[in-house]
Amino acid sequence: MSSFFETKIESLRGVGPQKAEWLNKELGIFTFADLLEYYPFRHEDRTQFHRIADITEDMFAAQIVGRIASIELIGSGVGKQRLVATFRDSTSHMELVWFQSITYFQKYLKLNAEYVVYGKPVWFGGNYSITHPEIELLTPSNNKKGYFQAIYSLTEKLRKRYIESKLISIWVKNLLDIADPYINETIPESLLTKYRLVAKKHALRWLHVPKSQAELHQAQRRLKFEELFYNQLRLIKLSLVRKNDYAGQVFQKTSLITEFYNKHLPFDLTGAQKRVIKEIFADLKSGKQMNRLIQGDVGSGKTIVAFISMLMAIDSGAQACMMAPTEILAQQHYANLKKYGDLLGVRIEILTGSSKKKERAIIHEALLNGELKILVGTHALLEDIVQFKNLGLCVIDEQHRFGVAQRAKLWEKNKNFYPHMMVMTATPIPRTLAMTLFGDLDHSEIDEMPPGRKPIITVHRYDANRLKVFEFMRDELKKGRQIYMVFPLIEESEKLDLKNLYDGYESIERAFPGVPLSIVHGKMKPKDKEFEMQRFKKGETKIMVATTVIEVGVDVPNASVMVIESAQRFGLSQLHQLRGRVGRGADQSFCILMTDYKLSKDTQKRLQTMVQTENGFVISQVDLELRGPGDMGGTQQSGLIDLKIANLAKDEGILKIAREEAFKILKSDPELEMADNLPIKLHIDKIKNKELSWNRIS
Ligand code: ADP
Ligand code: MG
Repeated sequence: MSSFFETKIESLRGVGPQKAEWLNKELGIFTFADLLEYYPFRHEDRTQFHRIADITEDMFAAQIVGRIASIELIGSGVGKQRLVATFRDSTSHMELVWFQSITYFQKYLKLNAEYVVYGKPVWFGGNYSITHPEIELLTPSNNKKGYFQAIYSLTEKLRKRYIESKLISIWVKNLLDIADPYINETIPESLLTKYRLVAKKHALRWLHVPKSQAELHQAQRRLKFEELFYNQLRLIKLSLVRKNDYAGQVFQKTSLITEFYNKHLPFDLTGAQKRVIKEIFADLKSGKQMNRLIQGDVGSGKTIVAFISMLMAIDSGAQACMMAPTEILAQQHYANLKKYGDLLGVRIEILTGSSKKKERAIIHEALLNGELKILVGTHALLEDIVQFKNLGLCVIDEQHRFGVAQRAKLWEKNKNFYPHMMVMTATPIPRTLAMTLFGDLDHSEIDEMPPGRKPIITVHRYDANRLKVFEFMRDELKKGRQIYMVFPLIEESEKLDLKNLYDGYESIERAFPGVPLSIVHGKMKPKDKEFEMQRFKKGETKIMVATTVIEVGVDVPNASVMVIESAQRFGLSQLHQLRGRVGRGADQSFCILMTDYKLSKDTQKRLQTMVQTENGFVISQVDLELRGPGDMGGTQQSGLIDLKIANLAKDEGILKIAREEAFKILKSDPELEMADNLPIKLHIDKIKNKELSWNRIS
């Protein structure tokens, strides 16, 4: 039966060998199944006409009937002219703008004739306008209620060959007409009924060629559910398999911890820290391998939680390691952990790309004979030559930057048992993202800040007010505080970045004569960076001029002012991370976001969010809404999330239900043997061959 969907696309009516080749090459569509699963990413609603007065900027497109009231050619010289038409209906007026084919449109457009116009409205200069609209004279045929057009992601090469969304729709329709008997249901009957989900075959038709908004909506809801349901089913299954099949070393001795608590703990742990430590201890005693995500905002005190957990491993004769994404961070963790370790006589070393050969040799040996208890480092830890006597616990800081493959590599470093895994992240992740990205991990949250931390005052200032900002900085310097000034990084042009940074540095030098400055950027040698960071940390320099290399984790309690230049160029979570560099000491801290006057709506929202809240989860939620899930934390590049239709910013409700139901099913019927679950079993058998991620599980 399934061979129907494996049929080559060229045998579909209307396609043929030549177009098939383009579909292969450009879109990866080889078979009937590929075409059917090539979902449109949006739909054009040509079923209704809008009134100009009802236009809003968040409309994807508007379809309007109106008359052209005036036409004007603006500007002079080749490439600088634009044709602007005033377009009216009975409710209001707007502008239509052409930058290209101007002479053609000058001839084509007729004053006072009635047109149907279609395009994306943009608010600009006090008017709505559509640039390069689709426009045609109103005729009896296009005056009728129109249609929905599915829009597919296509390439320029395809368009040149007239392979457009309309054509794809026609092909899909041809396919659906013959595919009907072969489309299998993938969701159990009971769930379809419970959530009133439409059958798969309807959903596919209604997604590709809907007749109404209602059909489209039904189709989307059903297919989103399916996608998230299988995503969750896989993650939950993975975590169950681990829990059932992967034994973990049992750590339950606590003499080192007791000693540390009684003699050396520098402060009382917060309630949240205590709770999370308890959760970790329960895992470490359980005899099952731990896989736990620890989320905690910047400054929430994750390091000590990691250290105490490591003590538990060490107490039972095992070793621990901690991996950080950058050298500076690794250095800092090392310094912090060593402070504690020295008190207890626990040996700690650091291994990074810049470790010397001699040091490495010593470390390798001490790891193998078990004298070295905690190894801190960067990616260098992953190298095959780094072998432990008995690695019991791995802590990974700032998970986002490490891929799943790297996590797996750490796993392999212990022979008898997989080491327990603790993944720490300071980048708050919206719930939906956490569920899909880390749905296979258990989850702990440090949702409380250490006491005495003053809220950071965040303000937005325009470049024009720079002198005032400088004045404020001078006052803070006089009080003995230190200041960060961060410049953005334009990845396309490193040269420009540096110029930008050095220009900034010079202007600060001029504005603050006699004040010792540091400068740090990504092009510096790690040694020099470290040297400058240390000078700043020791208080020898007062202002740190830097690019985002100071973004994560760097800790200088006396630095209480963060000035972010061109703040519009930073993402929201990045701004939040940067702000987290201050507010670490007892003084009132400030974050000043500098921009020029021209700000997009999204930028305004970002700045406003920063000014209003310090809550990382709120911020990550707004970030998700503004940017969409693909961009979050570099997850798209790492290929961690592959969702075709569900949108993590919008579909939290569906995701929750899908997760709940997946849980229930795997709990009551782990091997999927019940009749009602047969569609799931069959579907998994089918996708297993295609999607590697399922292979490891069943
Ligand atoms: P992060 O979660 O960002 O890694 P750190 O572990 O670096 O946070 O902790 C931030 C600062 O707060 C450190 O200086 C640490 O010593 C301090 N700290 C951590 N926990 C507490 C606590 N319970 N009480 C007071 N200070 C704490
Ligand atoms: Mg930290």
